[in-house]
Parts: sequence; C-alpha cells; structure tokens
Amino acid sequence: MPTESTFLLAGLFLLLAAAGWALGRFGERDLEEQPQPLNIDYLKGLNFLLNEQTDQALEHFLKMVRVDDRTIETHFALGSLFRRRGEIDRAIRIHQNIIARPDLGTEQRDQALFSLAKDYLRAGLLDRAEKLFGRLAEGSRYQVEALEQLCRIYEQEHEWQKAIDAGQKLEMLSGKSLALTIAHYYCELAEQSAEQKDFVAARAYIKKAQSGRPRTHRGALARAAIARDSDDSKTALRLYRRIIDENNYLMTEALPRLVEIYRSTNAVDKLESELRSLFQKQPEMRSDVAYTAIVNNIGGIAAIDECVEEFMLNDPTLGEFIDLQHLLEETPEDREKALARVRAALSKLAAATPRYQCKECGFSSQRLLWQCPSCKDWETQRPSSRVKFDSLLQRSL
Ligand SMILES: [Zn+2]
Repeated sequence: MPTESTFLLAGLFLLLAAAGWALGRFGERDLEEQPQPLNIDYLKGLNFLLNEQTDQALEHFLKMVRVDDRTIETHFALGSLFRRRGEIDRAIRIHQNIIARPDLGTEQRDQALFSLAKDYLRAGLLDRAEKLFGRLAEGSRYQVEALEQLCRIYEQEHEWQKAIDAGQKLEMLSGKSLALTIAHYYCELAEQSAEQKDFVAARAYIKKAQSGRPRTHRGALARAAIARDSDDSKTALRLYRRIIDENNYLMTEALPRLVEIYRSTNAVDKLESELRSLFQKQPEMRSDVAYTAIVNNIGGIAAIDECVEEFMLNDPTLGEFIDLQHLLEETPEDREKALARVRAALSKLAAATPRYQCKECGFSSQRLLWQCPSCKDWETQRPSSRVKFDSLLQRSL
C-alpha cells in the first residue's frame, strides 16, 4: 500500500515536473538547458515511488532540488511535515541536507539547527537535542525557544541545577517570571540531597526554593519531611501543623505524616487536643479530616473517628449501602469496629481510583505529582474534593 509520504513526494515530483515544463530547469541546472515536457529526473523519482521506495525517492528529490534561496522553504516545509507525521529519520535527513549547504546564511542555519534539534527531541535523542539547543541558546533568534526546550530536557533528565541555570537565563530574556518552576527545581535538589542524608544541603536548597514568589507549597512539605528524616520531630510537627492550620490542599499529605509522628512518640493525646481546638476554630475542616482519614485509612484516634463517622452518616450515597440504624444501635465497641470495617473498605476502593487532578488539563493520578505529566505545568494538581463514593460502590458491586 502506498503511504501518505508516497503521495506527498509524488505530488512534489508532479509540481517539479510542472515547473520544469514551464521553466525547463530544476535547482541549479544549466540555464541554457532546453525545456523538456517530461523530465528524466521526474520519471526516475516517480519510478521509485511506484516501486514504493520512498527513501530512495526522497534521496532523489534532495539530489534533484538543491537547497538554494528559491527552494529552501520547500525543504523546511517538507522537513517539518515529516516530523509532524512521525517520520523523524526523513525529517532529520532533510534538515541535515539543508545544513550541509556551504553558503547558508546565519539565519537559515539557525532555523535548520532549530528544526534538527526538534527532530532529535522527537526521536528521543536528548543528548543531541540538548547540544543543538545549547548552541542556539548562546545567541540566536531562537534563544528563548531553545532555553524553553532545554528546561524540558533537563526536567526529563533530572538535571536540576542545569534546569535552574537555563530557567534563570530564560527569565531574564523573556521577562516572564519562572519563580514557581525554579522553586520546584530547588525542591527536587533538596529531595535528592535528603535522600543521600545530606540534610544541610537539603535545607539550603529549600531556603532558595522558598525565597521566590509565588512560594511553592511543596517547600513547606519538603522542609517538614527533611526535619522528620533528620530526627527533628519538633520542627516536623510544627511544620505539618502549620500546613494543616492553613487549610491548604496539602492536608491529604500532611495529616497522615502528623499522625505517624505523634504515634511514634506516643503523643496521640496531644494530637487529639490539637485537633479539637482546630475544629472549634474551623468546624468546616472536619470533613477534610474525614476525607483524608478515609482515603489513608487512619483510625483509632477519637477526634478523627468522630469526623469519619459524621461524614459517613451524612453522606446520602453511603447511607444507602450502610445499615445506619442498625449501626447506631450497636454497642460503642461494635459500632467502632463496624465503622473501621467500612472505612478500610472505602480506603481500599479509593486507593484504586485517581484522587488528584490537574486543574489546567484535567490529568488525574492516584498520588500527588508536582509536575503534571500531561501539560508539564508545576503544582497544578489538586485532590478531588470528594471521593465519588457512589460510582466506587456501584463499580465494586
Ligand atoms: Zn496538566
């Protein structure tokens, strides 16, 4: 079966034949040459296509139509068309062919290098793409685009310091603030250092992350995790408490850590009283705590259990599946056990469904991702406001 590329090249040969008919020459041919109604080059190219030898046809086209001022745009158009169609080898061949022209002007060379870099990127040849974008970022009219692409490459390669350098240069050139993105790069470095137990470096990176505006919420969470891992539970508790107090969307991440630390230090009573005073000030937090406790299956802490019970009893969908009347008649111990069973079952169901969603593009995931894998924006994921228990329960029946 002839592919679309076959038709595309056939069309080009046809156009060339038509132009050849009128002008009697192709590319750099001798001006004195006589017009030929059907050029032999055209027939040769067509023959390759009829035999479905697309690559030979392309080579023939490149040989036939040399890159010059009149044909260069056709070459660029053909190259980007091949790239868009995913035929990267052919796109690369065309752009390399343009670069090989000895008398190419600076602007056209940069355009060809930029196109070739995009081909490499599309082919997953990150090293080669990085090299070309790096060259263009040094000074060309593609400087801004090249720096943007370099940031993407460094993100993929987890080369965070290089990403910071490229990001800062990009900020200067474009006049656009990248404070939030750069703060995340610093957080990545902080987390890497913390993993290697270099807590001094980790704290220094967090400080840099939090020096920009807008400030990333991740900084507070990462700082708390560093404190916890470096056995500074006092600071960790203070930071996790602050995240919860601020009632930002990281409650789902901070509360389970807070519970862990209080449990490991046998200070659950303290957590109880802290939560109760929090609920007095902000009663609307009860449902957030309940939601977090259900999806993380946290139980056995009275202040939290009460929120979970209240949440389940007030949820119309859950009410249909749980025999509430029967449950309320149980002894306190049996009632606690029954609620624990329901909570564990819901937690299992919730764990199997996406709980975070990107507010920019709608991409959803089961755990919190700081960079959206789909739109590549940073810190755009938010927890679903509610687990859709009705659809979960329907699915599990
Ligand atoms: Zn997204």
